[in-house]
Amino acid sequence: MAEKITMQPDGTLTVPDEPIIPFIEGDGTGVDIWPASRAVFDAAASKHGKAIAWKEVLAGEKAFNATGSWLPDETVDTFREYLIGIKGPLTTPVGGGIRSLNVALRQILDLYVCLRPVRWFPGVPSPVKHPELVDMVIFRENTEDIYAGLEVEEGTPEAKRMLELLAEFGGKWAEIRPDSGIGIKPISETGSKRLIRAAIHYAVQRGRPSVTLVHKGNIQKFTEGAFMKWGYDLVREEFADVAVGWDDCGGKPGDKILVKDNIADITLQQVLTRPDDFDVIATTNLNGDYLSDALAAQVGGIGIAPGGNINYVTGHGVFEATHGTAPKYAGQDKVNPGSVILSGVMMFEHLGWQDVADDIVRALETTIGEKIVTYDFARLMDGAIEVKTSEFAAAMIDRL
Ligand code: NAP
Repeated sequence: MAEKITMQPDGTLTVPDEPIIPFIEGDGTGVDIWPASRAVFDAAASKHGKAIAWKEVLAGEKAFNATGSWLPDETVDTFREYLIGIKGPLTTPVGGGIRSLNVALRQILDLYVCLRPVRWFPGVPSPVKHPELVDMVIFRENTEDIYAGLEVEEGTPEAKRMLELLAEFGGKWAEIRPDSGIGIKPISETGSKRLIRAAIHYAVQRGRPSVTLVHKGNIQKFTEGAFMKWGYDLVREEFADVAVGWDDCGGKPGDKILVKDNIADITLQQVLTRPDDFDVIATTNLNGDYLSDALAAQVGGIGIAPGGNINYVTGHGVFEATHGTAPKYAGQDKVNPGSVILSGVMMFEHLGWQDVADDIVRALETTIGEKIVTYDFARLMDGAIEVKTSEFAAAMIDRL
């Protein structure tokens, strides 16, 4: 019987054998990717005596055409009620007050962790020599930083008022050029600690050896630098039995998880030159944005990069493709469904359906290992068998 996923007071999810899971098909190539991914999910679940009662909700163009709203209240309410959902890519409306539907959904549901695992699957074309060394999980803060949307446009009355106010601080505050646009970057102790707490919990649960706090604290001391400081404070306050900060152990954590930190710019070099130094990464919103795309490129690009947006306190989670709608390919049954399929893997892991997740990963590895791939990989591989989106899913299902 189809039932809701619920959360217990201790924060664990209770997942029935046939959970109701809302999904957004997605715009553009969503019409190709979603049915393919869903077929893989259903086949993998049924292998383990489980099923998913999919419940479609609307967002993006499909929602706008049907209801006149890009993100209907009903969609948000449904995600709120059923806790866990999954989505394809959405068109970002141009004008109309919504910056991005994805950002709106994250903020309304307070999905404070953007979780991006980055690992390489054998056979996937990569621009680096040792993609097999890349196995990182990024915890990107999802609600603060410049993504809070606190910006005023140059020349507007708001910008003028802001400049007047800042001038009252004196010194360099009074020297901001009058023809400036101004953005505010809030980073809070609450926001930083809950993000880093989730990253350390994850490292504990998955037996990961280290958590690296990535920040730009050498320049932005009271935002990025504070993020790092609060991270180390948190280790001492809440995780002293299982984790230790670098300075508190001289880099020698014994059998505990090592929490260390790294400046953002050097991190972008080192994830290339010595990827095996990195494991779980906890970082602020903008750093996380750059880092996750740079890392995705090392292991096959955005056609195969999944993501999850999670609030570990309320239990809400929305898993998603990290690429956009690729409108030029929409309806052609051409693009790679890997990103949504791996988002589903993350979702099943989050639900505790590890066996279902593992089977999907194995089927993906086997399919790619046999060089059965969509156009994006085929153009980079010798001897590839190029297949359509739906054929790739069918090949995976055959190999489940
Ligand atoms: P995009 O849709 O991500 O597409 C850029 C390029 O990425 C494509 O031309 C294609 O590369 C490659 N690509 C994307 N999806 C792929 C897939 N499934 N398989 C293989 N390759 C794939 O970015 P965009 O064209 O800048 O944005 C289009 C729309 O999507 C915009 O409205 C944007 O705001 C929105 N968007 C949504 C999300 C989201 O919902 N999460 C994220 C980003 C952007 P080639 O041309 O090299 O084949």
